[in-house]
Amino acid sequence: MGKCKNITRLLSDALDRSLTTGEWVAIRLHLPTCSGCRNYRKQIRLLREAAHTISGISTSGGASGDD
Ligand SMILES: [Zn+2]
Repeated sequence: MGKCKNITRLLSDALDRSLTTGEWVAIRLHLPTCSGCRNYRKQIRLLREAAHTISGISTSGGASGDD
């Protein structure tokens, strides 16, 4: 599915910039239907947390986690 490429890219972009509402909607609609993208999100979250731990940089806010 071409859509997965788009979604994973948005998930990655979300680490660096704020996504638009439309982009979040696309993600939220897609993730429940796609274990591949859910796994991808989980992985990049872990990677980001690991990077924070290593660098000691504390960033505030940002990604939504209101599940
Ligand atoms: Zn997908």
